[in-house]
Amino acid sequence: MPLDVSELPLVGGHPVLDLVNTLERGGSSPPHDFLSDSSALLRWSGRVGVLSDAEFRQVSRVWRDEPAVAHAGLAAVRDIREGLHVVLLALITDADGDPAGDPVAAGAALVALHERWSGAAARARFVLDWSRVRLAYGTVPAMLVPDRLAEAARDVMVTADLTRVRRCPVGEGGCGWLFLDQSRNGSRRWCRMADCGNAVKARRLTERRRAGRSPRP
Ligand SMILES: [Zn+2]
Repeated sequence: MPLDVSELPLVGGHPVLDLVNTLERGGSSPPHDFLSDSSALLRWSGRVGVLSDAEFRQVSRVWRDEPAVAHAGLAAVRDIREGLHVVLLALITDADGDPAGDPVAAGAALVALHERWSGAAARARFVLDWSRVRLAYGTVPAMLVPDRLAEAARDVMVTADLTRVRRCPVGEGGCGWLFLDQSRNGSRRWCRMADCGNAVKARRLTERRRAGRSPRP
């Protein structure tokens, strides 16, 4: 797997599913957080189109001048990420037909996500946009990134077809990443189609070889 957020594949089909995939869960090693600091979060946000180039420079300046504000922004995004993960897992059915997540935890996560979104909505502004009026989120640079992501989370939860949320099958060696299955017949199984499956096979082979070469004392 890549170690920098700039190399992270974007396979979620929506920015907030890609957000959930910035924390590698599953596996025996400790989870790797691609959003390791506020600078990684900014670079990721630019990549997925959460902010424009001009906004990127503006937020960079504010966060550089006020590290505490940058830290709060990162913490808010990690909160949104965790809440979404819990909610989306509760919507997924595993191969054996059981829900992958806990509905009670999902209810609590929805309350927290609504609080994040209310804060973002309170900072949003109506703006004239040619011949119409638009609700613009992220008008306060310090909170622009979490506010845009809180709104994107609301968008996916309220408008996406959540029966299409899938998890790359951990039980079969998949990575556990979430994605929106946009295939016509809804049969997508791996986050990166054959890639993840092939990577899993290659890793298993390497592990078997390594185990064969250096047996435990
Ligand atoms: Zn995968």
